[in-house]
Amino acid sequence: MTPKHQTRPVIALAPIGRVSSTQIESLATPLRKALDADVAVTAGLELPVSAFDPRRGQYLSTALLDLLARAHRPEWERLLGVADVDLYVPELNFVFGEGDPRRGVAVFSLARLRSSDEALFHRRSATEAIHELGHAYGLGHCDNPHCVMWFSNTLAESDRKGTSFCSLHAAQLTRLRGQAIHN
Ligand SMILES: [Zn+2]
Ligand SMILES: [Zn+2]
Repeated sequence: MTPKHQTRPVIALAPIGRVSSTQIESLATPLRKALDADVAVTAGLELPVSAFDPRRGQYLSTALLDLLARAHRPEWERLLGVADVDLYVPELNFVFGEGDPRRGVAVFSLARLRSSDEALFHRRSATEAIHELGHAYGLGHCDNPHCVMWFSNTLAESDRKGTSFCSLHAAQLTRLRGQAIHN
């Protein structure tokens, strides 16, 4: 039994570059619910010029993870960066985001998630945020198309999977977080 006053882990959100504050705030409730954590919005970080590839017109997501790793504080269980620029890794034409379990950081971008339907845009953002945080806790991809850890290539897949973990991933997440606490 968990005492009510037990402090919950904190997930920190850091805007990177120019990001709508409405969009950042819309993440708080879904993240709190999906990950049973408190959510804190931190000071914004500047988009590093060195992360930009002018030939591709995109930012290297791994470079944003480096930036987040430097900003990460021990009192945060995980740090999630929220950007609004197109992200890539060398082997793919784009990524929605990236997560790093070793350093406990993740990043995702709003750039490819927009919709004229504001509620759908918020839901997509929450889905990708939770997916990348899942990686930052050490989860891999899922073969259940309704699990948030399904690897989305398209917005249709992102919309289908939604913000919930399948039972296997929910159990694995609890285990990984428990290990981190007792280490
Ligand atoms: Zn993934
Ligand atoms: Zn799963």
